[in-house]
Amino acid sequence: MAQEQVKIPQATARRLPLYYRFLNNLHSQGKQRVSSAELSEAVKVDSATIRRDFSYFGALGKKGYGYNVNYLLGFFRKTLDQDELTKVALIGVGNLGTAFLNYNFLKNNNTKIEIGFDVDESKVGTAIGDVPIYHMDELQEKLIEEGITVAILTVPAPVAQPITDSLVEANIKGVLNFTPARLNVPPSIRVHHIDLAVELQSFVYFLKHYPITEKEL
Ligand code: ATP
Repeated sequence: MAQEQVKIPQATARRLPLYYRFLNNLHSQGKQRVSSAELSEAVKVDSATIRRDFSYFGALGKKGYGYNVNYLLGFFRKTLDQDELTKVALIGVGNLGTAFLNYNFLKNNNTKIEIGFDVDESKVGTAIGDVPIYHMDELQEKLIEEGITVAILTVPAPVAQPITDSLVEANIKGVLNFTPARLNVPPSIRVHHIDLAVELQSFVYFLKHYPITEKEL
């Protein structure tokens, strides 16, 4: 994109989609402005953090007015590349993979799973949602043909690394890894790891050991 990109801290960048979703809702309700207190309540981020986040992209809220919804939305759209559709591939059409294929990511952001891959012959040649499933033998050819550079990995852990190696060969730039395997990739490839079992376990641990105090309520 030719537009100048503002360099913002990673923690702020991670919160942008949250802000974007809420502001989009406000916009569709015809709201023109929003206070940091309202935003804070809706996205559950404290208002000091919101003010600091917004100051990185030049949105300085005015006292008694708040933030201009249209200005913020315009900024988020550009920063999150909402004007461009990002095509994603999903590898491993099992229980979790199938759920992702049926989930409409497009509802909230501009990413779409375009293509699925599996080795199971009963799945190859079918379509889930409207997403066609191809055999792994066609992985590299299809990814390169479609110009897809983002992949979601929902395969069994033992095959995660060799599949990642083929993804890298097919010019993939990012892997969202839902397997418990830790992946080795060249430094130019971004991997985000989401282990749902670990998340659940740590959540239960927090519930038990860090009860919410009166002060936080
Ligand atoms: P299911 O009940 O459909 O097997 P699951 O999520 O319990 O789903 P897993 O064993 O985790 O099954 O496998 C997830 C998916 O990954 C399955 O559809 C499986 O066929 C597929 N898969 C297994 N090995 C590979 C591989 N080498 N390449 C691509 N997909 C694979």
